Amino acid sequence: MNTLDHTHDPAARSWLAAANAAGCDFPIQNLPFAVLRRRGSGEAFRGAVAIGDQALDLAALANAKLLTGAAAEALALAAQPTLNAFMAAGPEAWRALRHALFALLREGAAQEAAVRSGLLPLAEVEYTLPARVGDYTDFYTSLDHAVNCMRIMRPDADAPANFRWLPQAYHGRVSTLGVSGQRFHRPRGQWLPPGAQEPVFAPCAAMDYECELALWIGPGNAAGQPIALAQAEQHLFGIGLLNDWSARDIQMWEMAPLGPFHAKNFATTVSPWIVTLDALAPYRLPWTRAAGEPQPLPYLDDPAVRGQGAFDIRLEVWLESEAARLQGRAPARLSATSFRHQYWSAAQMIAHHAAGGCGLQPGDLLGSGTISGPGPGEAGALLELAHGGRQPVDIGGGEQRGFLRDGDSIILRGWCDKSGAARIGFGECRGTVLPAVDA
Ligand code: CA
Repeated sequence: MNTLDHTHDPAARSWLAAANAAGCDFPIQNLPFAVLRRRGSGEAFRGAVAIGDQALDLAALANAKLLTGAAAEALALAAQPTLNAFMAAGPEAWRALRHALFALLREGAAQEAAVRSGLLPLAEVEYTLPARVGDYTDFYTSLDHAVNCMRIMRPDADAPANFRWLPQAYHGRVSTLGVSGQRFHRPRGQWLPPGAQEPVFAPCAAMDYECELALWIGPGNAAGQPIALAQAEQHLFGIGLLNDWSARDIQMWEMAPLGPFHAKNFATTVSPWIVTLDALAPYRLPWTRAAGEPQPLPYLDDPAVRGQGAFDIRLEVWLESEAARLQGRAPARLSATSFRHQYWSAAQMIAHHAAGGCGLQPGDLLGSGTISGPGPGEAGALLELAHGGRQPVDIGGGEQRGFLRDGDSIILRGWCDKSGAARIGFGECRGTVLPAVDA
């Protein structure tokens, strides 16, 4: 597990003034990774670290040859056009680079001038997926979400019987993953109109989003070799934001008995920045399972996870309609919650994924499942907030939404904040629904 060190000191400051500003997502204590280039440049994509309102170009930094030893080796991997090799290198390499970057960016660093020449304004970059993703799995691990969804159909319903025993998941689709800024067409599919006896094949009429976290796998495991829960976080490079766009009408009709297909395979959006577990160390919490709930089977239980397996990552969902954009109106906040409420931890998802012999590979992507908290206004999907579309949500400017309309953008934001620690943020994950393509 990650321990606190000098890189978590909330008093530490960077020579870059913007990194020290209150409310900044990317202070020197964060140092998240992405893959980017100058916007519209046609340059090669390369790894970068966010600091204040800038990205530190790791390829430029590697060329400056300021680092030596393990940190230099890690930097060479992180500078590549995908982060896969750096992800595969493991926690010691990640930490060596974090400590070296912290020293270079800290107030008073002798190398300031050389490092400064590798900065690119965040406003002038474009991103690509941070890794070449081999496989994508989406979990379903919020009890509040599961119960809310069931109760839309039947008010006294509970989560399925297996929900409390295993972190449920389905295998997703890599080809339609996109980085923040993704714009996608409303999917067509089969669905059953209300009261109809036969389905139609038509554009989805119940477009939704799901607010999730992206868990990025570091070192993999050989096929057939499970990952012990106590070691699971050694396989987790870091965490970003993820929107699992969902076509609810298609999902309702197609899902039994094999799971979602068209309902989930047209677009999935991730944030460009990945926050490392080292950066998240101050925001760990005990993972608990309330008395009266089933306690995990032994392969999903470990004192280390009980002690600090949960993360207090705060999340918000915002909706910006086309009309709001045209009128210059601010996006409307739909919900706010924290990952601390999740029924299953990130480590349990990884251990369970590999438990049957499934091999994970560096750069694999796990969606945490929709993150809904226990209170009103904490639901991570419009399906829940608008009660299946029956109670549309007010989004300002006289507009309401039961489900998403063409032109709607959904913006996910995440951050961690508490007294005694530096606030760190995840940036944003934005995606936009376009009209269905002509049949
Ligand atoms: Ca999902």
